[in-house]
Amino acid sequence: KKFGIDKALEELGISEMNAGSSTGTDFFANGEEIKSYSPVDGAYIGSVKATTKEDYEKVASTAFEGFKEWRKLPAPQRGEVVRQFNDELRRLKAPLGKLVSYEMGKSYQEGLGEVQEMIDICDFAVGLSRQLHGLTMHSERPGHRMYEQYHPLGVVGVISAFNFPVAVWSWNTALAWVCGDACIWKGSEKTPLTSVACQKIAARVFEQNGVPAGISSLVTGDYKVGEYMTNDERLPLISATGSTRMGKVVAQTVAKRLGKTLLELGGNNAIIVTPDADVKNTVIGAVFGAVGTCGQRCTSTRRLIIHEDVYDKVKDAIVDAYKQIKIGNPLDENNHVGPLIDKDAVKNYLTALEKVKEEGGNILVEGGVLEGEGYESGCYVKPAIAEAENHFEIVQHETFAPVLYIMKYSGSIENAMGLQNGVRQGLSSAIMTNNLREAEYFLSVEGSDCGIANVNIGTSGAEIGGAFGGEKDTGGGRESGSDAWKIYMRRQTNTINYTTELPLAQGIKFDL
Ligand code: NAD
Repeated sequence: KKFGIDKALEELGISEMNAGSSTGTDFFANGEEIKSYSPVDGAYIGSVKATTKEDYEKVASTAFEGFKEWRKLPAPQRGEVVRQFNDELRRLKAPLGKLVSYEMGKSYQEGLGEVQEMIDICDFAVGLSRQLHGLTMHSERPGHRMYEQYHPLGVVGVISAFNFPVAVWSWNTALAWVCGDACIWKGSEKTPLTSVACQKIAARVFEQNGVPAGISSLVTGDYKVGEYMTNDERLPLISATGSTRMGKVVAQTVAKRLGKTLLELGGNNAIIVTPDADVKNTVIGAVFGAVGTCGQRCTSTRRLIIHEDVYDKVKDAIVDAYKQIKIGNPLDENNHVGPLIDKDAVKNYLTALEKVKEEGGNILVEGGVLEGEGYESGCYVKPAIAEAENHFEIVQHETFAPVLYIMKYSGSIENAMGLQNGVRQGLSSAIMTNNLREAEYFLSVEGSDCGIANVNIGTSGAEIGGAFGGEKDTGGGRESGSDAWKIYMRRQTNTINYTTELPLAQGIKFDL
């Protein structure tokens, strides 16, 4: 295959695939076959078998038994295993980045970037393994000591989406592992081979370190396999990344058994462009945000809210920039935009373009499906721009494709804020301005209601050091940096009496 894909598969040890679920370096599964075709050229890459209910039972009980041992290993020693896993990621960055690009369709640079995110979160997790600390408090009772500590939580279920097929897994697992948890991962059924490649790397390092089986486990298949996890009482936490529709089902299923969820769902991200914006940077930020990963990032820029004073200037500059975009094989580094994930995604993209026209939108940059040489997979589309109103039904929805809606605001920043916050999703947001008052208003309590609010950079491209996630229909979860690790542990408050008396809290008298 072109662009060294065969070599990459070989380096990852998955050229002769007969994989499926796994609790270590061996793979087993007895369900239906899932074939993986590349959206890049439509070629068959390989197949895995889906996990059956019986297979799942084996995975879950192995993970549960493994957890009982793993949790006893001191956290810094767990960190050392993650450090070695990270060495392997560094060594295999190029082939894994290539497989991500080929199976998912994002550019090779973005594929490498995704593996770099895995490396970054592992570095973070290794340091964290010596900092899983609670607080000490002063007891109201004499001769008493009070503190809190964090213990490993258990077996964590990770369900992930196709668009970040490897990074989301490690955002969860790198932290969960140093926290002392075992993880069962169900990757997207649209990108099964990247999941198998990751499991191979982790399981090999774990085995070399004598880590019990099941600490890194993989299950394969569609939502039915996800449901084995969401219904499983042995899993105290389900971390699920994907559509809002999926998140609502998962949240209810897990809540029924009083489990915890960490939800990372859809976005509808906007950039506000004020009269004081730097137009050059606005164009770069908006265009990368709208067309990067072919509009298939949860943080992709969907809406541009532009002040009327600069509306025409910014609009013309962006329309102009779209003329420079090269669409084609994402492994060819001359191209900016690769394909959508599959033909269903193409259908959704076309429907959105129809709908915005029906609702009265004005197409500024025509979309369409590309045909001919290099576009045989049928998944390559032209990034489109439409002038639209925020209240249009289609604008209120997340279409996971490169369709950018632009709209005008007049008057003060409050008006732009109302539009930006006037959607159900609350993931990422940005303002382009050199005006301190506008920037601070945007970040204030009356400002953006999103989990991510940026000034003078676009909506996409977060770093791992901060907590990542959003509010409202985005699900409220936080992953990755800051204190996101706490959700992977259980908190315990301890009070120790070192006197010969037994005083009660709140001064309550109880004499015998
Ligand atoms: P999807 O919702 O179709 O699938 C996501 C995962 O959930 C898959 O593994 C799928 O098999 C599983 N799933 C679906 N229904 C389930 C159920 N009832 N029970 C258990 N598991 C179930 O999403 P997708 O098309 O793969 O990804 C695109 C979506 O993901 C977009 O909405 C995007 O914004 C969102 N996303 C969000 C973030 C974030 O961090 N907020 C990151 C990446 C993607």
